[in-house]
Amino acid sequence: MTENTTHEIYYTELATAALNQFLAAKAYSKIFVLVDENTKHHCLPIFLDKLEIAPAAILEIKAGEIHKTIQACINVWEALSQKGGDRKSILVNLGGGVVTDLGGFVASTFKRGIDFINIPTTLLAMVDASVGGKTGVDLGVLKNQVGVINQPQMVLLFPEFLKTLPKNELYSGFAEMLKHGLICDQNYWNALKEGIDFYNEHHIRTSVDIKSAIVTKDPTEKNIRKKLNFGHTLGHAIESYFLDHVSLKTLLHGEAIAIGMVLEAYLSHQLTGLSGLDLQEIKRTFLTFFPKVSFTAKDIDIIIHLLKHDKKNVNNDINFVLLKTIGEATIDVKVPPALFPDAFAYYK
Ligand code: NAD
Ligand code: ZN
Repeated sequence: MTENTTHEIYYTELATAALNQFLAAKAYSKIFVLVDENTKHHCLPIFLDKLEIAPAAILEIKAGEIHKTIQACINVWEALSQKGGDRKSILVNLGGGVVTDLGGFVASTFKRGIDFINIPTTLLAMVDASVGGKTGVDLGVLKNQVGVINQPQMVLLFPEFLKTLPKNELYSGFAEMLKHGLICDQNYWNALKEGIDFYNEHHIRTSVDIKSAIVTKDPTEKNIRKKLNFGHTLGHAIESYFLDHVSLKTLLHGEAIAIGMVLEAYLSHQLTGLSGLDLQEIKRTFLTFFPKVSFTAKDIDIIIHLLKHDKKNVNNDINFVLLKTIGEATIDVKVPPALFPDAFAYYK
C-alpha cells in the first residue's frame, strides 16, 4: 500500500487525456468500472465515450448509503474474481462517495491491493470524499467502521456529471464548500455566499485545493485536519437523529452539517471571539441555501443526549472546532453541553 498522501487530480479535457495516456502506458490486464444504478444510467455512457480502451466489465452496486456494506464488497470481489480480475487489473470508481469509498476499499483489498482511479460524480464526492484517501464501508448503523487509507492512482473531475444530480444532492456538497471557506478562506466564503455556478470548475478547484492542502499537512488527523470537522459535531448528531426517527424526513449529510455550522458558529460567538456580525452572516447564508428545520424541545433533548453518548462524555465538556473569525478555525475547544440549548434557540 502506498504511503503517499496525495495523488494527481485532473479536470475535464485534461482528465480525459490523462486517463487515456495513463491506461495506455500502464497496460493493465483488465479495466473494471464500478457504478451504482444511477451512475450506470447517467454517467457511464458519457464516461465510455471518453475512454479509448474498452473495459473488461462493468460492475454495479445498488445506490445509497444503506448499500455501503461488506456484503456489497463481497459481491464486487466475487464479480472481479469471476471476470478474471488479477493483480494487474485496475478498478475505476464512477460514482458518488458511496462508490468511491466502497470501490477504493474493494480495490485496496482485492488480491492484496490493485490500482484504482476515482471519478466522482456528485459534488460531495468531488470536493470531499474523493480527496484524502479514506476508503471503507459501514457496519450496520455505524458509519465507516471498516476501511483503509489508500490513495487512488488519480482523481478525475468532470463537472458535467453534475448536470443530472438532483438539486438537494448538489447543495449537500455545497455545504462542504461553504465549510472550506469558513475554516480557512474568507475570500472564498465571500464568493460562495453570493451563489455558485455548479458546472464551472473554478469553485470546485478551490475546495479540492483547500482539502488537499489540509490532508497533505496532516494525513492522520492529529491536528489541522480536525478543522474539516467544523459543523460536524452537532451536525452528525442531527443526522443520526433524523436517520433513527422514521417519522421525520431524512436529512442529507450536507443539510445536517449546514445546521451544525450555524449552531457551532453560535458557540464560536460565545467562546472563540466570532463577531456578532459574522455570526448573523453565517446564519443568513445557510438559511438562504438550505431548508429550515424546526426542532421541538424533545428533539433537542434527544440530539444532545445522542451527542453526549457519542462522545462518551456524559457529564464533561465536548471538543469542538470553532471559528475565531470567518476564514479562521481553531481546534480542540472544550464546550460545556449547557450551551447547546442556547445554540438551538439561536437557530430557531
Ligand atoms: P452517494 O454516493 O450515495 O450519491 C448520492 C446519490 O446521487 C446516489 O443516489 C447516487 O446514485 C446518485 N448519483 C451520483 N452521481 C449522480 C449523477 N451524476 N447524476 C445523478 N445521480 C447521481 O452519496 P455522496 O453524497 O456522493 O457521498 C456520501 C458518501 O461519501 C458517504 O458514504 C460518506 O461517508 C462518504 N464520504 C467519504 C469521505 C472520505 O473522506 N472518504 C468524505 C466525505 C463523505
Ligand atoms: Zn461532511
